[in-house]
Amino acid sequence: MLPLDPQADPGRRAWVACPNCDDSRGCEPCEQRRTCSEHWRYLLTNTGSLLHLQCPSCTHVWVHESGFGATRSLWNRVTGGGPRD
Ligand SMILES: [Zn+2]
Ligand SMILES: [Zn+2]
Repeated sequence: MLPLDPQADPGRRAWVACPNCDDSRGCEPCEQRRTCSEHWRYLLTNTGSLLHLQCPSCTHVWVHESGFGATRSLWNRVTGGGPRD
């Protein structure tokens, strides 16, 4: 297990499935691509549409190409808003 990155901040989250532990499998809000209160990733940094993420469950770090760089509203769907029901 890696240590949590010093930039990991629970106030900056992204809702992207973890490629390592797949902890959101079978979770209803995650499968509907909604913001889930249990399954989210630390958003460490971003460069354009590339997101540097860390999974709080397994501490895996990876880069995710969101493809959302040009579209503000889609960007906000992944990184903002907080959990909703
Ligand atoms: Zn994980
Ligand atoms: Zn979930």
